[in-house]
Amino acid sequence: MQINKSKSLFEKAQDFIPGGVNSPVRAFRAVGGNPIFIERAEGAHIYDADGNSYIELINSWGPMILGHNHPMIKEAVIKAMENGTSFGAPTAREVEIAELITKMVPSVEKVRMVNSGTEATMSAIRVARGYTGRDKFIKMEGHYHGHGDSFLIAAGSGAITMGNPDSPGVTKGTAKDTLLAPYNDLEAIEQLISANKGEIAALILEPVPGNMGLVLPKAGYLEGLRKICDREGIVLIFDEVMTGFRLAKGGAQERFGVVPDMTTLGKIIGGGMPVGAYGGKKEIMEFVSPAGPVYQAGTLSGNPIAMAAGLAMLKHLDSNDEVYKELDAIGGKLVKGIKSSLLKYQLDFSINHVGSMYSLFFTNQEIVDFETAKQSDTAVFGKYFQAMLQRGVYLAPSQFESLFLSTALTDHLIEQILTAHEESLIQALGL
Ligand code: PMP
Repeated sequence: MQINKSKSLFEKAQDFIPGGVNSPVRAFRAVGGNPIFIERAEGAHIYDADGNSYIELINSWGPMILGHNHPMIKEAVIKAMENGTSFGAPTAREVEIAELITKMVPSVEKVRMVNSGTEATMSAIRVARGYTGRDKFIKMEGHYHGHGDSFLIAAGSGAITMGNPDSPGVTKGTAKDTLLAPYNDLEAIEQLISANKGEIAALILEPVPGNMGLVLPKAGYLEGLRKICDREGIVLIFDEVMTGFRLAKGGAQERFGVVPDMTTLGKIIGGGMPVGAYGGKKEIMEFVSPAGPVYQAGTLSGNPIAMAAGLAMLKHLDSNDEVYKELDAIGGKLVKGIKSSLLKYQLDFSINHVGSMYSLFFTNQEIVDFETAKQSDTAVFGKYFQAMLQRGVYLAPSQFESLFLSTALTDHLIEQILTAHEESLIQALGL
């Protein structure tokens, strides 16, 4: 495989863009080698500047749940473009998508559209603080909620990958209001609450975290958090930027049957356009300006093109129950194949999986939180990643990410991925 164009693009990019990329993990720092510059994408494949093609298992970090460049979304965008790209004034489409989101996501009675997951979580915390009149909030170690200051403390995703889970530039004053807890540990939450009685506005978490690799909630954990938050008057916020519209129509809260007070959304909600949203109970969302006193705004929020893409995506998901059955079947087949290859070579690596998300960890420890996730051998992951890339399979370039499957993966492609996987395991481990 020849990647000369990607190489020279990356060289030039580094002269003008910090690290050559507009989001850190894209630089391949954790896995070595040169990042691949993408020219176009279609269905299950992306194509790079040198004309190589790859089967996609990231799908733009989640949004492309139906595969790339889906004709239905393309058509909606092109049609919307005919009428102008931005108005900065309300549109009927915003009302339609808001109504649909409240129908699909159990916790959401009212919703505000923003432009990214980062904006959604920053705004949700502000609203929870305004609503409760309290300052502190609980965040889980290794969970990622975008790059808002107060979340860059023991943060997951690129922050772990780059080795800066606590970013310089976040003041001590900001950091002191973020209380940290290990995931999957209710006792730790009880201890934090008793040490900060009546001071905690919110508890935010990824109900099924994907930003330290994929980790699943233990039985009773989400229910336990719900009970504790009810008892203490703490706003429970599920960050479903990854899991929303992916693990079920109504996200992890539908799949696991636990309804938070507020939910943050992103990725799939924009059909590939830059969109995020936060929503929740009416009485909380009524605190958002101009209905209430908590300020939050956006020049391009509810952008007509972005809303057209998002609405086309959500309408499709809402009216096609079989999408989720299909995604579960695709995830099931792939993970079954990976498990049988591990068995064949007597490897006891951990694999976490739910629906169309999975992570393979290069350790035999069960991965239940940030500490256990960090046990994975990232050097072996790097070798495995490169071996997969050589064989035309594009994974997330970090151990600390989930993979996201799309409905574009046919049985034939799954077979191809599994062959590449087995060869890559052999290569990475020197078997
Ligand atoms: N929350 C979660 C759970 C995420 O996975 C991400 C991004 N991967 C974000 C928030 C931030 O979203 P964005 O990158 O759109 O700002």
